[in-house]
Amino acid sequence: MKLDRYGVLSIVVRNSVQYFKKAKLWGAAEQCVAVLRALALTAGIIATQRFFDAITEIGSKNNYSYLVRCLLTLAFIIAAQHILSGLGQYLLSKISYSNMGKFMTDFQRKLGRLPAETFEDTTFLDKAERAKECLEYESLGHFASVCLQLLTYYIVLFVSLGHYLFQLSPILPFVLIVSFIPAILGQLMQMRIFVKLENENLPLRRQSEYYKKTIVDRKFYKETRMLGGFQFFHKLFIEGLQTLTQNTWKTERKAAILKFLLGIITFLGLGVSILILFQLTISNDISVGAFASVFTALSQIFSIMDEIVSTCLSQGSETIAQVVNFYRLMDMEEVSGAGGDSDFTKGIVAENVSFTYPGSSKAALHNVSLTINKGETIAIVGENGSGKSTLVRILTGLYSTYDGKVIIAGQDSKMTHPDVLYTGISGVFQNYQRYKMTLEENVSISDTKQAVDYSKINKVLQKAEFNEKKVNLQSMLSPEYNGVDLSGGQWQRLAIARGLYRNHSFIILDEPTAAIDPIEEARLYNHFKQIVKNKSSIIVTHRLGSVRLADRIVVMDQGKLAEIGTHEELLAKKGKYAAMWQAQIKWYEKSDVI
Ligand code: ADP
Ligand code: MG
Repeated sequence: MKLDRYGVLSIVVRNSVQYFKKAKLWGAAEQCVAVLRALALTAGIIATQRFFDAITEIGSKNNYSYLVRCLLTLAFIIAAQHILSGLGQYLLSKISYSNMGKFMTDFQRKLGRLPAETFEDTTFLDKAERAKECLEYESLGHFASVCLQLLTYYIVLFVSLGHYLFQLSPILPFVLIVSFIPAILGQLMQMRIFVKLENENLPLRRQSEYYKKTIVDRKFYKETRMLGGFQFFHKLFIEGLQTLTQNTWKTERKAAILKFLLGIITFLGLGVSILILFQLTISNDISVGAFASVFTALSQIFSIMDEIVSTCLSQGSETIAQVVNFYRLMDMEEVSGAGGDSDFTKGIVAENVSFTYPGSSKAALHNVSLTINKGETIAIVGENGSGKSTLVRILTGLYSTYDGKVIIAGQDSKMTHPDVLYTGISGVFQNYQRYKMTLEENVSISDTKQAVDYSKINKVLQKAEFNEKKVNLQSMLSPEYNGVDLSGGQWQRLAIARGLYRNHSFIILDEPTAAIDPIEEARLYNHFKQIVKNKSSIIVTHRLGSVRLADRIVVMDQGKLAEIGTHEELLAKKGKYAAMWQAQIKWYEKSDVI
């Protein structure tokens, strides 16, 4: 057991404290019930002994009213045990359900406060997914509950039961403990076997899930049916499943043999305990009633031991890995930075900016310097993967872990909280969202800090040339929720309206045009330039017909700023831009957009 910040013990303590804090009085009630359950179990064993004793003595003493009293006490205790057990279950599910909501809120807030570039890192995304699963399965709460109950229920149970057994014979508690050691060791070994299995199976299961999705998911079905991928994926799926089952079967067999061998040892322990009991009864050290009650209680005690060991250890090892992962994520560094007043008349200035994505070895940007003045329209062009989107994310303050210097609206983007920078910036990105909400919400979601401004919504929809006649502001835009779906082109216009709705001094259009042809894109960008006339704007594209009208054109090539100038200047230069222009000119031949 390590004692560092993420060692088992400190995580157990941290998780339990949080659980208790979040559950408040309910948590205290749960522990009280746990103590009562433990006491009721011991009381039940003692009452059974009394009852049996009363029966064996009835012949000699004829004390029927005592027998009835013993019977009633026993019945009362058994009833209490059932009620308490139900109450315990109820409290556990109630608390872990409401705690899950609270933990989930903390988790989502945390994700919201992490730097945007973190989300580009696939290992981080994996960890976040596992943390989410851990919350959804209520693992945090169950784990805390088990740990806390170890302290209350099991300790109280073993102290009270041990005390009772000790009074019968000092050797009895000892025998019990000794016979459980193999059970604990066995569980530990089993746990290791299963953790190994889980590690082996996890990637296989992900793969298998993916194949299954390619077969049944809506997004895939057209391709898999039409292009005949069904058989292919189905075969892969079946093969994956077979390997999974084989692995599991091998492990289960190993575990079963282990369990059988250890079971024999435990069984021998039980035999020795019974022999001692028998001896004590023969020699009249304990009553027949005590023999009977302990005899029946033994199997109960054994199953309780088994339960503790298996829930705390075998499930625990799986859970603790998840819980540690959760807290590591919760401790990740958040975006920080000072407040301040942004002044967008000062534009955006980037000096010698280089950037590498987390987990990547190749730099996405090298030494880029660029100034964007108030009121300018800058076009960023370049082939796919040349670094256009990365540059835009840095110029807007989304990423702050670059080398070099970026001053946005007079504020150093590394020192300033992104919220200060975002106040004046809006954008429409390549993979804009199609929210399953009403038209009104789909637009106003870009500026939720203000009250919804309906006339502004109508205005921006008009500006963006959103002209779908069959919907009004309250129409639900999702067939899944009994609403209507829009065509790709209308969604695009809606996304632009959303970008315009947000109060901004700067607006970015980063290729939200993938679904339309070059001519239509050029038409849309020309129109966009008209509607953002007095604002600063950046338009990003790899299709040059759209950018002729920009005040300046920035040409990106393999992460470097290759050329900068107006359309005419760049053509005259006969460099990268001129070559791209020559290659693309035929796209626009029959149109009047350029
Ligand atoms: P563009 O927008 O010009 O198509 P990007 O800025 O998206 O180009 O990408 C620039 C480079 O950074 C590319 O080589 C791309 O492969 C790489 N890149 C983009 N996103 C990531 C990421 N999440 N992780 C690692 N590399 C990335
Ligand atoms: Mg891009």
